Amino acid sequence: MMTKITLFWFRRDLRLDDNAGLYRALCAEHPVLPVFIFDRHILDKLEDRRDARVTFLHDTITALKAQLQALGSDLIVRYGRPEDVWPQLLHEYDVAAVYTNKDYEPYAHERDARVKALLADAGATLEAFKDHVIFEEKEVLSKTGGVYTVFSPYARTWKAKLAERMDTTPAADGTPVPISYYLKPYPNADYFGKLHQVDAVSELPTLADMGFERSEIAIPDTQVSQGLIKQYDATRNFPALAGTSRLGIHFRFGTISIREKARKAQALNETFLNELIWRDFYAQILANFPHVASRSFRPEYDNIPWRNDEAQYRAWCEGRTGYPIVDAGMRELNATGHMHNRVRMITASFLTKHLLIDWRMGEAYFAAKLLDFDLASNNGGWQWAAGSGTDAAPYFRVFNPTSQMEKFDADLVYVRRWVPEYGTARYPAPIVDHKLARERCLETYKQALAR
Ligand code: FAD
Repeated sequence: MMTKITLFWFRRDLRLDDNAGLYRALCAEHPVLPVFIFDRHILDKLEDRRDARVTFLHDTITALKAQLQALGSDLIVRYGRPEDVWPQLLHEYDVAAVYTNKDYEPYAHERDARVKALLADAGATLEAFKDHVIFEEKEVLSKTGGVYTVFSPYARTWKAKLAERMDTTPAADGTPVPISYYLKPYPNADYFGKLHQVDAVSELPTLADMGFERSEIAIPDTQVSQGLIKQYDATRNFPALAGTSRLGIHFRFGTISIREKARKAQALNETFLNELIWRDFYAQILANFPHVASRSFRPEYDNIPWRNDEAQYRAWCEGRTGYPIVDAGMRELNATGHMHNRVRMITASFLTKHLLIDWRMGEAYFAAKLLDFDLASNNGGWQWAAGSGTDAAPYFRVFNPTSQMEKFDADLVYVRRWVPEYGTARYPAPIVDHKLARERCLETYKQALAR
């Protein structure tokens, strides 16, 4: 007879330590066997068969599988569509329940609803937990019970809520240290004995099996020096410096714990903590206003008659606009899968305001290229730049790419790194004149919003 087990479904939480859903599964009644699905609904849409994120995902899953095997268990890895894979798993194992961590994206909602129904037909339940953020969905609300759409009051309430429930945790020498209940790590290792033990381990599909090749793009480390976090507020705005954490991809795939990094941020640098709050902020915007995934948060912005000039769009994508800071950013993105936040703001503003190209085209380009691509934060950033989003700068504030460069890359170190031909005859002339583009933008927005 088969042993009744709990399956733990890994998605954006690819680690064994301090993992909320895995902890809950290990504390429940049955032995726990972890599962990961390389989801064809997501992978089939990726145009680049050398996508660095797929290589990273494959490497991470390989390592996770080895860790679980060292504990006498295994990671069951499948390649397919969840609605096809789950019936197979339910046939192969006697499943009491499936535990997982919540994913707040619209596709994930649909997928989980379908899987939940499949499981219910087989007499099993789907149990989903908060792990990806500190506060989710409707946990941080205004006094009148509304969802915040402006960051500053949201962040104030977020911090107050963190302080509301204080607890302690033992330090290395055993002395109790105060800690917010919401930042406490889950002691998973204490429960690893509850992992389902296997006699033989299963196969892992290769990248080639899934139609991908290895990317050589380097992935940033999960470790960040204390010095960097301590100086973060002074260095974070200058793209020439290595002044930001580069942790985005690890937050995206859950290869680090947000609770652990928020604890460090709380101890070391409030500005860094604020950035992590921005991440929660946009996650709750997407969860509460899912229409933002395809439309403007402010509906009147959907009236803007975007020009969508194909040649100008290509020039922007390839870093040939004749605006050095914009071109440096786009070339950095194309070469490394990363772009500095300040430069993301400048390039996004340039596309939407100077070129009047639909923010969704820029959003899609970033989604295809960014290692740290995250629907909620990317969408939030793009709608902020276009003026159509929550908490957006008013549309009449148009970034001047030249003065931004003078302010944040005064010595042109960043620009010269990515645009070595800058200042020579080989560098293209600007594809639009700043003054004319600014006036055209203001006129277009004004007319569209008056309708
Ligand atoms: P750090 O500066 O070290 O910040 C630490 C972490 O805080 C980040 O990894 C991220 O998780 C979070 N964070 C920082 N700034 C923001 C922000 N403004 N909004 C939300 N979270 C933030 N961030 C993404 O994670 N994925 C995206 O797809 C994404 N697309 C963006 C698109 C545009 C147009 C803009 C303007 C911003 C976008 N951001 C996105 C936010 C920000 O640019 C990146 O999080 C940051 O540059 C990542 O680098 P880092 O890990 O070194 O960040």
